[in-house]
Amino acid sequence: MKRRVPSISLASPVKSALIILSGCNFDCRGCITVAREPIGREFSAEETVELVLKAGRYVWNSLPEKVIIGGGEPTLNPKYLLKLVALLKRMDINDVQIKTNGYLLNSWLLKELKRLGLISFVVDVKAFTDDVHKWYTGKSNKRVLRAIKLLDEHDLKFYVRMTLIPGVVDIEEIRKMCIFLSHIDKSILFRIYGFSPEHAREKISRRPSRSELLRAYREAQLYLDNVRVGPDPETFKLEYTEFRDDSLLERYAKIDEVSKSLNRNWNIKGIPMSRILPLKD
Ligand code: SF4
Repeated sequence: MKRRVPSISLASPVKSALIILSGCNFDCRGCITVAREPIGREFSAEETVELVLKAGRYVWNSLPEKVIIGGGEPTLNPKYLLKLVALLKRMDINDVQIKTNGYLLNSWLLKELKRLGLISFVVDVKAFTDDVHKWYTGKSNKRVLRAIKLLDEHDLKFYVRMTLIPGVVDIEEIRKMCIFLSHIDKSILFRIYGFSPEHAREKISRRPSRSELLRAYREAQLYLDNVRVGPDPETFKLEYTEFRDDSLLERYAKIDEVSKSLNRNWNIKGIPMSRILPLKD
């Protein structure tokens, strides 16, 4: 039972680690991550935790305080995910977050994850209208919307994010999603992001303007109490050290180049993963 891990990214000084598990069950046209493809070396859950611990020792000389499991899609192999979370908890890392497209979250998996202790979720909803979702991802969103209800029913901590993609996922989509969420709980945190055409797999749209994002924000606020645009501003103050699979260094260097030209705050230092390998020493 293994998953491919193309990178592990550590944020300082907050001591959080992001594990990227590659491969995905969606085929989003606007996907911005290389981890959609099954890339990177395979690691068992035990090896992945060891990798995180070694990365933590390398950067901080200590364990991470928070671990985020993202991708790609982290729920593709539930047994691997459960094992990974259980091992992290055993290391006393209590703040574990799963970033998911929501499609494979079901009652059984949520119960098992809850049993392992404190855990939170980020559900990235691609579109509210099923036809838009199918066009964009290749899959229906019925399971995704059900998963959000289940998270609430299981009393798990989560927030929902959505990307404004002009002409594809417009303000009307955001509005419908917010109405849906408001019927569950008006206090659900909802984050709106803007589409990044520069990194997208297909150039299906453009970057939304600030005023379009503001309009989406105002619309969302009509239905929900906790709406934000973009990531937490604090994340821009962090320094990131990313351990990258050695075979992918060139691909990552190209991504860095584009990102730096777009974002003055881009602050990621790439390190070959071989620096913390082999695992057993
Ligand atoms: S769910 Fe995420 S990783 Fe998967 S294809 Fe969509 S954007 Fe990419």
